[in-house]
Amino acid sequence: MSKRTKWDTKGDLDESKNLPIYQHKATLQQAVKDNSFLVVTGETGSGKTTQLPQYLHQAGFWSNGKIGITQPRRVAAITVAQRVSQEMHCSLGREVGYQVRFDDCTTQDTVVKYMTDGCLLREILADPVLSQYSVVILDEAHERIVYQNKWWDKASKGRCVPLKVVVMSATLETDKLSVFLGGCPVFTIPGRTFPVTSKFSCAIGPKDTESSVYVKEVVKVALDVHTSEMAGDILVFLTGQSEIEKACDMLYEKAESIDYRYDVQDHKVEGLLILPLYGSMPTDQQKQIFQPPPPGIRKCVVATNIAATSLTINGIKYIVDSGFVKQLNHNSRVGMDILEVVPISKSEALQRAGRAGRTSAGKCFRIYSPAFWEKCMPEYTVPEIQRTSLTAVILTLKCLGVHDVIRFPYLDRPEERFILEALKQLYQCDAIDRRGKVTRLGELMVEFPLPPGLTRALLQAASLGCEDLLLPVAAMLSVENIFIRPGHPEKQKEADKKHRQLGVQAGSCNDFTMLLSVFEKCKASDAPSAWCKDNYIHWRALKSAFSVETQLREILLRLQKRDFPMEKFDGNKSELFRRCLCTGYFTNVARRSVGKVFCTMDGHGSMVHIHPSSTLFDQEAQLDWVIFHDLLVTSRIYIRTVCPIRYDWVKDLLPKLHEVDVYELSSVAREEVTDEEVAKWVTKEAAKRQTEGSAEDV
Ligand code: ADP
Ligand code: MG
Repeated sequence: MSKRTKWDTKGDLDESKNLPIYQHKATLQQAVKDNSFLVVTGETGSGKTTQLPQYLHQAGFWSNGKIGITQPRRVAAITVAQRVSQEMHCSLGREVGYQVRFDDCTTQDTVVKYMTDGCLLREILADPVLSQYSVVILDEAHERIVYQNKWWDKASKGRCVPLKVVVMSATLETDKLSVFLGGCPVFTIPGRTFPVTSKFSCAIGPKDTESSVYVKEVVKVALDVHTSEMAGDILVFLTGQSEIEKACDMLYEKAESIDYRYDVQDHKVEGLLILPLYGSMPTDQQKQIFQPPPPGIRKCVVATNIAATSLTINGIKYIVDSGFVKQLNHNSRVGMDILEVVPISKSEALQRAGRAGRTSAGKCFRIYSPAFWEKCMPEYTVPEIQRTSLTAVILTLKCLGVHDVIRFPYLDRPEERFILEALKQLYQCDAIDRRGKVTRLGELMVEFPLPPGLTRALLQAASLGCEDLLLPVAAMLSVENIFIRPGHPEKQKEADKKHRQLGVQAGSCNDFTMLLSVFEKCKASDAPSAWCKDNYIHWRALKSAFSVETQLREILLRLQKRDFPMEKFDGNKSELFRRCLCTGYFTNVARRSVGKVFCTMDGHGSMVHIHPSSTLFDQEAQLDWVIFHDLLVTSRIYIRTVCPIRYDWVKDLLPKLHEVDVYELSSVAREEVTDEEVAKWVTKEAAKRQTEGSAEDV
């Protein structure tokens, strides 16, 4: 270890003593000893996530079992575990580790374990009393769903030492949490914040929702801050990976040409260090975000909403707020969950601004107008459980033995129609039967961290012995976008050309085979990273896809050892592939109506267009029936990852879209289930699982 690093570490430790939570260390340790349930609240950045687990470790809780901490998003779980392992002077994966979907970084030595909510749920499925844990800390409880099922009621029975449950949240809804936990004590860490002045601008009004418009604007404002404001780092909020990369490119280009001969506001600024931060970023790059910039250099982090609550970056003095966020919403217009860019809520805007006032007074530059604030921004953000499809949650609940998913005591009760919708979808992909009971297929499906339709298609392929076609596709659809589209127009043309060539070479007549072909070609290549660069493909994303494929294959292999349904098929391979897709995607079927317009067949009858990124774009005239992976809603509704099919293949499935009486499903969902049945499920082989829902990558 170099001298400098040693010095840094010491600095870090001192820093943790400066956190507001530090003064309450002994009290908190005692409070957890004295209570089975505890709610802890405090401003974002007060040290809850990084410090409390360490305090409990120091207090000796680990001797009774692991200290588990859940995070709503994978990046948060990973970066925080990294940080805490540093603070505890151990290498990551030893005493301190993390486990997220497709990535388990823990060992037998791990006693402080950060994980995603989904991971914990899987552990509960495998071991309802969580016998390996002494304490479970549910962090950012305001954000998430899984605490709804009160699994701890069951977990506290049948243990020698009772399980401790700590629920942490930055919001003020702690009374609600406390009531939910049977009136447990609430510990508030007094905050220490500095004033932040917020300024609106007229750039973005109620009608300006185009990404290109607000990206340009945040870049402009960030550069203005850089060239005219006092020392201090900048945090820019945008909505997602591609936008962030675009903004970083633009910032980089413009920052290059700044003339630094004159000092900015009497202090020396020589450059701008531009760092992106989004969910699916590689971990080595994430580390950089937290390091202080070199002297004279100003840091500018361009981040998704993850920097609003989950991660705290020190040294931020200026916020540039785009006013938008990418959110998984149930879109009733198209009847599906889609990731949408929407205006943030007012409370979210305040939270974002607050990030500038942690260590001294700060400034927040809102690029939107007061009219935008008034007309477009809701007061509060609606909890995810109330705005998304619940298929994964409902299926997991059912597999956990909770059958009455309607009268279940949710913390934030989802609308009944969403529960019914989820039941319907589960029925459509054969995960539950008409009486609302989990089927054999459903028990297999709950093991996969994929959307139900994709899992259904994958299981169908596996039962026909052609999982090799579907596994790569499922993996490719689970990672960030693999096709690079550079911002520069010339390069963009070249990239498009390369992608088209790849399609032609693949002989691919649809976007799913395109994914398969890219996966296989790259895998077979001697120099895969060079191959990717040459073809404008994200090497990093492909690497993740390789790893995801392996893991999905492992899950499948494990399930195939149970008695796995097998079927026969006579027909050609291309047809087989597409027919497998149909079993899962018949809910996403569309038929061309006129010109380039397609009409969905799910009862919503939405008018949709093929997205320009599709290999089938501009070939609409030759198409009739298609299935698609997802929708993108802008001024138009686009379908993405598209595959032509024959009506014959879905003909027998389509009635399922309409025949089902959701009330029938739900009325049986209310039926009592015997403890034996629950026990039967629970005692079923329950090897280690490491999976969770899908919106966590944002
Ligand atoms: P809270 O959970 O209350 O919001 P945290 O425990 O996340 O607070 O943050 C406490 C401090 O730890 C902050 O000053 C933050 O900057 C720092 N921190 C968190 N993660 C990292 C990291 N990966 N690297 C460096 N510092 C970090
Ligand atoms: Mg936290």
